[in-house]
Amino acid sequence: MSDQPIVTAAPTESKELTSFADLVSLCKRRGFVFPSSEIYGGIGSCWDYGPLGVELKLNIKNSWWKAMTDRDDVEGLDASILMHPRTWEASGHVEGFVDPLVDCKTCKGRFRADKLEHASCGKKLSLQPGKHSECALTEPRLFNLMFKTHMGPLEDSANIVYLRPETAQGIFVNFENVQQSARQKIPFGIAQIGKAFRNEITPGNFIFRTREFEQMEMQFFVKPGTDMEWFENWKQTRIDWHISNGLRRSKLRFHQHGPTELAHYAKAAFDVEYEFPIGWQEIEGVHNRSDFDLKRHQEFSGKKCEYFEEATKEKFIPFVVETSVGCDRSLLSVLCDAYRLEGERTVLKLHPKLAPYKVAVFPLMKKPELLELTDKVFGTVKKHFRSTYDESGTIGKRYRRQDEIGTPYCVTIDYDALANGAHPGTVTIRERDQMTQERIPVENVVAYIQDKMANWKSE
Ligand code: ATP
Repeated sequence: MSDQPIVTAAPTESKELTSFADLVSLCKRRGFVFPSSEIYGGIGSCWDYGPLGVELKLNIKNSWWKAMTDRDDVEGLDASILMHPRTWEASGHVEGFVDPLVDCKTCKGRFRADKLEHASCGKKLSLQPGKHSECALTEPRLFNLMFKTHMGPLEDSANIVYLRPETAQGIFVNFENVQQSARQKIPFGIAQIGKAFRNEITPGNFIFRTREFEQMEMQFFVKPGTDMEWFENWKQTRIDWHISNGLRRSKLRFHQHGPTELAHYAKAAFDVEYEFPIGWQEIEGVHNRSDFDLKRHQEFSGKKCEYFEEATKEKFIPFVVETSVGCDRSLLSVLCDAYRLEGERTVLKLHPKLAPYKVAVFPLMKKPELLELTDKVFGTVKKHFRSTYDESGTIGKRYRRQDEIGTPYCVTIDYDALANGAHPGTVTIRERDQMTQERIPVENVVAYIQDKMANWKSE
C-alpha cells in the first residue's frame, strides 16, 4: 500500500484486567456505562449506557442479529414485554421461577442460599455468610424472581401482569403466527432481542447480574428425534459467535448442567462460560427445551401448537433448541477480554467491528493549512466508518484517548502531507494494537482500513 517504512513502537508488557473496579471507572469516565439515577444516589443494580456504551451494545446486537437472521432458517420477532398472565402459569414461572433465599438476623443481609460461596458476610467481608461466629442465617425459603405490576387503573389481584423474566415465551406463543406468515418449514428458528426483568436476590458485579437486562434469544423448532443433533450443532455455532466477536478461545469453555442444575423445562443444557476477573461464569445458555413449552401452551390456551409435516403427513409438537445470551453480559465479556494495561496506556483491543468508533482523524496541529486536508479526509472516512475528530492536545494524548475507548485506527494529517511537503497527499495511519504507523496516500485510506478491519485478529 505504501513505499514508506512501517514505524513500530517498542513492545511493552501487557497486563489484563484483574478486577471490575478498573473497568467500572473507565466505563464511567469515557461514557460507556453510568450508574442509573446517579444524581439521586443511584438505584441498586441498574445501569445506563452512555454514548459509547450504546454504540458498543448496538454493535453486539447487530453482530448477533446478523449471525441469526442471515440464515434462511431463522426469522426475527419483537414481542411485547407484558404478556397474558396465563403465559407464565403455562411456562412454569409462577410456580417454579424461584431462588432459595436466606436472611441473616445479625447483619440483615439477604443471600441466595445456593450461591453463598460467592457472597460476603456483613460482619466480615472476607468470610462467606454463615461462617462468622455471629451469623444467624434463617432456613432457606423460596422467592419468586418475577416482577409484578398491574394492568389498567385498578390495583387488584385480577389484573396482575408480570414483566417478562425471559424473552422466550413471546416466541413460543407466536410459533404458529411466524411459521405460517413466513411460510417456514421445520426445522426453523425465531430470533428476538429484548429486555427481561428478574428480581435477583443478589445482583452485582457491575453489569454481570442486574434486575433489568437485555437478552438475545433464539428458539429453533425441530422434529422430535433430531433435537440432540441440532443441540450439538447450535452449541458449536454459539461458541464460534463469541470468538467471532474477538473473545479468545482460551477464555471460553462449556459447562454441562448436571441433573440438579437442569431447569424445569430442560432435557439437556450447556452454558458457554467466560473467564471473568471473578472467575468462570455463564454468558450464554444452550438448552434442549424438548416439547415442554409448546405442550404447556397448548394445554393452557386450548389452542393447538402442532406442526403438520407435509412430506410425511405427520402431526407433532416440535422440540425446541434454545440459545440464550445476555447482551449486557456479552458486552461485559467483550470489554474484559479487550482491556489491557500496557505501560502508560490503557487500551481496549476491541474487535474493530464492535468498536464504537473505527477511525479517529487528527490534524497534527490546529493550523488552517492542515485543516483543509483534514476536513477532506474526515469527510471521506465518515462516509464509510463511524469516525471521530480530535484536534486538542498532543498527538500522544490523542492516541491515548482513542486507545482507551478502543478506536482501532488513527489518521494524522501532518505538514509532510501538504502540496509543498515531503510526501504530498499522504496521511499517517496508526494502528491501536501494535502501535505501528504507516504513511498512505489519501485515496487509499478507506481501502486500507477496510482491509485491516477484515483481517483483524485478537491477541
Ligand atoms: P444465572 O445462573 O447467571 O442466574 P441463568 O442460568 O438464570 O443465569 P438464563 O435463564 O439461562 O440464565 O438466561 C440466559 C442468559 O441471560 C444468561 O446466560 C445471561 O447472559 C443472561 N442473564 C440472565 N440473568 C441475568 C441477569 N440477572 N443480569 C444480566 N444478565 C442475565
